[in-house]
Amino acid sequence: MIDCHTHLWRVGEHVGPQFLEAARRAWGATPEAVDVSPERHTAAMAGVDAAIVLGFHAPYADVVVPNDYVADYCARNPTRWCGFASVNPVAPGAREELERCHQDLSLSGLKLGPVYQNYDPTDERGFPVYEYCQRHRIPILIHQATTFPPQAPLRYALPILLDEVAIRFPDLVMVLAHLGHPWEAECAVTIRKHPNLYADISGLHGRPWRFYQALITCVEYGVADKLLFGSDFPFFTPEATAEGLRRVNQIVEGTPMPKVPAVVIDGILERNPLPVLGLSG
Ligand SMILES: [Zn+2]
Repeated sequence: MIDCHTHLWRVGEHVGPQFLEAARRAWGATPEAVDVSPERHTAAMAGVDAAIVLGFHAPYADVVVPNDYVADYCARNPTRWCGFASVNPVAPGAREELERCHQDLSLSGLKLGPVYQNYDPTDERGFPVYEYCQRHRIPILIHQATTFPPQAPLRYALPILLDEVAIRFPDLVMVLAHLGHPWEAECAVTIRKHPNLYADISGLHGRPWRFYQALITCVEYGVADKLLFGSDFPFFTPEATAEGLRRVNQIVEGTPMPKVPAVVIDGILERNPLPVLGLSG
């Protein structure tokens, strides 16, 4: 099992009080639950073979995880950790910073979150970053889904916005985090159109009805083979995510509702996201 969506960040140093307060209101999350030291990350990933570890440059949302911090951690165990850089694509110098991360820090992917970074993913000022990623086969994991901080503009969250990006950059590999929740159907039809678009299932099993519908929607649109396993640690562990996935049909047990086929569930658990995204692993 490979986890394609994990965070490494220290409360206080990288995650600020505004984000923590929003997480507390939305989830009852404590600072201790959000804080991920290198030791805690390693311990939490004991049950997976490898994990993508995300940087996050989102000062707008009070979270800044420096690219060098992620790179240092991943360099300790490069066979298990795959580091993703983060830049704000519309900020001056974004492409240059991405180039530094790619060339000098060996970070092999890019993490974006338009709602957290306060930019429109279709803004042409961000295109040089997409162009660099497309040219160097750098996959993007993008939080194109709803979120909880009050200042995050949900109009930038819609999965359908990435249709425009994928039309312009057809070879750009993108993973839509959290299956675009609560716009899972919009996510499914967007990744169906574009061969290089995928989605991860992280963070969904805590809402069993939505999760069930999301997977059935993906089966009906024929995109279940484009779903990748991820936990969004520390919000969930890989074990809890796998367990939630195995139990996805529980909510419709004893009803005539369709079941998510076992082959789809096993496929998500067994598919290695790294080669799918063009990364070694
Ligand atoms: Zn996340």
